[in-house]
Formats: sequence, structure tokens, C-alpha cells
Amino acid sequence: MSPSLHESFLRSRMQEFGDEHCFLCGCHIPKDSGQRTKEHVFPRWLLRDLGLWRDGVTRIDGSRIGYRKMTVPCCQECNGIDLGMIEGRVRAAHHGGIDAFAALDRRDLFLWLAKIAYSLAYLAGRHARVGPVRDDGRWSPAGPLRELDSLHLLLRAASGAVTWAPDAHGPASVYVVGCLDDDEPVRRFGHLDDPPVPMIGLRVGAIGVVGVLQDWGRSEAMGPPQPCGPSGAPLDAEQFRELYRRIAERAAEIGRPTTVEFVGGDVVEVRPVAAC
Ligand SMILES: [Zn+2]
Repeated sequence: MSPSLHESFLRSRMQEFGDEHCFLCGCHIPKDSGQRTKEHVFPRWLLRDLGLWRDGVTRIDGSRIGYRKMTVPCCQECNGIDLGMIEGRVRAAHHGGIDAFAALDRRDLFLWLAKIAYSLAYLAGRHARVGPVRDDGRWSPAGPLRELDSLHLLLRAASGAVTWAPDAHGPASVYVVGCLDDDEPVRRFGHLDDPPVPMIGLRVGAIGVVGVLQDWGRSEAMGPPQPCGPSGAPLDAEQFRELYRRIAERAAEIGRPTTVEFVGGDVVEVRPVAAC
């Protein structure tokens, strides 16, 4: 069997699936470890700001999970330092309004969206796991999670283990749009995702964001998608879903994944390879 991306380029820093391993760096965090924390898929500040702490979502199989219970196992360092710093900047930008959010560093925006998308796939993969949980807490992932090893490797940029070039767009196309806000908490938030692409859309109060996470800017290079509402007007929930659908159609049109090369070293560099 050929070695995985992580074995080839990150060596000991593996992609792990299990409650006793950090979802991001793979380190061992047994139950009695002081390093053991839980990373919220949707950040706590977002759930509190929007009044969603007691709300949740219904899975495809009809079971329900509260947003605040949507967590993945994470070590103290990844949660409190690497992801925490990014979260702090995204939170401040969200509080600053749409212009501040749109001006966020592209690396922060990519890592924030990619963490949510990967964590959603992680939870779905755990829910639909193949076989029982082993004695050491590990489980075998099911569904698209198995295919997200390159997204997981890019996520390791949060710790500085991975970088990419060129820097302009980074790995994703990202669209930031104004949305109509609402007084009713459940109407202030929406999420859409499509792990096989992978892509994600989030409507968070007055700000909507859609990311096509590994197309290396190809979708954005085609220009803005057709407007889904009156020019310049904030989008309502239905219009935001339509925008997401149009961007998904564009991603499907672009088709095959962008070919990338990995350059090993102390910091792994990922570069898109120009199509012939
Ligand atoms: Zn970690």
C-alpha cells in the first residue's frame, strides 16, 4: 500500500480518527490528559452572539444534535493557540461588519472555513463510522471524510507545519456577501456544505460567506456569480441558498480537482500545478 500524504510529508503528525486523538495534529489525548479539550465545530462566540446556544440541527437520518454538542476532540495547543488565534481575528472582523470581514487575511478565512467544513465531515464520518469503536477510541471513517486527507493536510497550516504558494488566493475561492439579518435566532444562521467538492456556505447574521475550498481561486477567477437579488441589496436566506447553488454549479463546471504538488521539508509547501 502506498504511504498516505501525511506519512509522506508530515511523518509523525498524522490524521487520526478517535476520541483520544486530536482531530487536527493527531496527538494522543487520553481521558486523563490535561491537554484534552473539545473544539466546537461552530464557534461558541457565534452560537452565543446569534442566540443559538440551545438550538441544533437535524441529521439526514432524522436524529438531532445541538450546535453546542457539535464538537471534535482537540489538544490544548491546537484549540487554544493555533485555532484560537485565527478564531479571535475572525470574531473581531465579524463584529466589525462586512467590510472588516471581507478584508480578513485570506489564510485566516481559508483556515476558519476549512476547519468548520472538515469538522462537519468528521462528525458525519463518526456518526456513520465503519465497524465498532476500538479499545483505544479509534474508529474507521465512513463517507467523504476518507477523501479529505489533502484538506486536512492544508489545515495543518494553522500550526505552521504547512504553507502554500502562490499566496494571492491560497487554496480557496471565497465569496463574502451581505445578508438580511433577523430578530429570530434560528433565522440568523444557516450552513450548507458539500464535502466531496469540498465547499461550505455560512450565513452568520448580516454576513454570508461561501468557500470552494480547494479550487485554488479558479471559481473566483471566473468573476462574480450572477446576482441573486437586487443589486447591492443584502440577500435573504433563500437568495443566499441560491447563491450557494450557483457557486456549486460553477464548481461542478470547473470539474476535476486542481492538481497540486507537495514539497517536503520542515514546512511542507503545497503548490497548484498549472493545467497543460
Ligand atoms: Zn492538536
